[in-house]
Amino acid sequence: MLTRRSFAAGAAAVAGLAGLGLRSRALAAPDALTTLSDGQLEMPTDFVLRGIPDATLEEIGIDRGALGATHASPCNLTLLRGADRLVLFDAGAGTNFMPSAGKLPESLDAAGIDPGEVTDVIFTHAHPDHIWGVLDDFDEVPFANAAFHVCQTEWDYWRSDAALAEMPEDRQSFVIGARSRFEAIEDRSTLFKPGTEVISGIEAVAAFGHTPGHCAFVLHGEGAPVMVVGDAIINDPISFARPDLSWGADQDPETGAKTRSALLDRLASEKMRFVGFHLPNGGLGRVETEGAGYRFVPDA
Ligand SMILES: [Zn+2]
Repeated sequence: MLTRRSFAAGAAAVAGLAGLGLRSRALAAPDALTTLSDGQLEMPTDFVLRGIPDATLEEIGIDRGALGATHASPCNLTLLRGADRLVLFDAGAGTNFMPSAGKLPESLDAAGIDPGEVTDVIFTHAHPDHIWGVLDDFDEVPFANAAFHVCQTEWDYWRSDAALAEMPEDRQSFVIGARSRFEAIEDRSTLFKPGTEVISGIEAVAAFGHTPGHCAFVLHGEGAPVMVVGDAIINDPISFARPDLSWGADQDPETGAKTRSALLDRLASEKMRFVGFHLPNGGLGRVETEGAGYRFVPDA
């Protein structure tokens, strides 16, 4: 239960946005926040464990032998239904990335939502599982009436020569894929900067590291603020217990670790509810401190 004081503390931490009318009519509806599954990612457990020695894993309480060869991470897209908007955070993987992902169309259908009803798609970042879904099998954009919102830093990065030059061989498709998706939505895209409102009541927060322009978002509705953290905090046995340990899927592992630590500290101290794209149980929950680290407490 959030008290008025902790709400005020959270609001006070939002530097520079005091005058922007954070109680947004667009977010006013109760129970307006939900998540939709896009399936799951399946990755080698060794990659997820980051090459950390078994002895260190044991210190965190991880029995390497008990983990299988493959680690599955759910994919949760945040859907926000406001008075006059239907906002989707990220667009899913589409059908060309991984057979176990790209299930958003079925999830929208099951929820009774036509993709044409989505008014806004806001991206956390441009990795395949977050943006490839803006093109369907016919290379058309299924969100026919949506405006798209991309962080300026992220937009510039994926279109830069540096992105292609520094990307490992097995991830070159990430660059090509991001560019083709950006091209498909360019006419309908607005570029935003962290520290500003993307649309009324939705504040972008720099959460760089996983990608150069990865952003989180704080949703300021009628109730307590909720954060969408994207991939800054992910589903693995390590991120909560030892957020300071770097990870190979963060394009800048050192910055990614700093961002993860700072976000967990904020979420725990402000008791802020949040959504993690790859976290279990639909990705919605809170974080509590546990020992020297944290633990995820999914919504009941
Ligand atoms: Zn992801």
